Amino acid sequence: MKVRSLTVALGGLLVAALIQTPGNAQGRQGGQAAAPANETLSASFRGSKARDWEFQKTAPIKVFDNLYYVGPGNVSVWMIPTTDGLIIFDATQEPLVDHVLDSIRKVGFNPADIRYIFLTHGHLDHFGGVGKLKAAAPKARIATLEEDWALIDTFYKNVASGAAAKNPNARDPGIPFSRDLVIKEGDVITLGKTQINVYKLPGHTAGSPSFTFTVYDNGRPHKAVLFGGPGQRNGVEGGTQFLQSLRRLKTGKEFADVEVPVHVHSHLNTYPDPRGGTVFEPAMQLAKRQAGQPHPFVIPKQWREWLDIAEAGTIKYVEEAKAGKAAPVGN
Ligand SMILES: [Zn+2]
Ligand SMILES: [Zn+2]
Repeated sequence: MKVRSLTVALGGLLVAALIQTPGNAQGRQGGQAAAPANETLSASFRGSKARDWEFQKTAPIKVFDNLYYVGPGNVSVWMIPTTDGLIIFDATQEPLVDHVLDSIRKVGFNPADIRYIFLTHGHLDHFGGVGKLKAAAPKARIATLEEDWALIDTFYKNVASGAAAKNPNARDPGIPFSRDLVIKEGDVITLGKTQINVYKLPGHTAGSPSFTFTVYDNGRPHKAVLFGGPGQRNGVEGGTQFLQSLRRLKTGKEFADVEVPVHVHSHLNTYPDPRGGTVFEPAMQLAKRQAGQPHPFVIPKQWREWLDIAEAGTIKYVEEAKAGKAAPVGN
């Protein structure tokens, strides 16, 4: 009983902290730093506030009994606590990695207990923080698909050779790390009582591991999917792969009972979420949720509507790429 009431109290604190985040209140309504009126909070994190590091330091959110958002505003970091340690999805990048460590502590966990860091794909905004997280969590295994390890290896090879520094737009590469656990389609990784199923849904990169797991809303289970690369890239080849991945998510029986999409970005540049964002907008509803109301992240219908939007957009993208017109897009 004692533990339970503590959890409830802590949840209340987090919700209060979320509401007081500048991006949710003052920052949206006035003052010099106000975001454009037509920009949702999630869009601001990747738009007008993309380089405002203090603004990015959003409070952690307890979304389900066993799923926390511990990322900054612009890129997701999700955490599943288990009886045998913590599972983290993605690592963000500098200068926001300390914020992730702080967020993990704020919700009552110790970063040293991280046992797995799953990387959704080999782009720096998702893997740049791994080196620092690993320093805080020496027992953590770093896991992604072979294709995404290849991207990470190439990236740090270019950093080591000095080639990366020649790019004037280069971001802080973080602490280099080396290849650890290579996961593959069909793997099932278990920690405590939590099972993570691994799928390969390419198109954003040639790998883009995606994961399913069970989240609990006051003890009631729901199937969640974390789509590793929810936006196409790389012309006809990448676009065609992405289309196949979307169609698998729509029709594959392994995804038929998905109710909860868990996204790598709160604002999806390629196919924005019609709710205004994937994390902060539903989180604001969650903060106001009354007993008996539905959980705003349990959205099987809207998830399939988003897949329809993405499918239509990708068909167009591939057609344009075939005509030599597609612009690079990304998440
Ligand atoms: Zn990204
Ligand atoms: Zn990406």
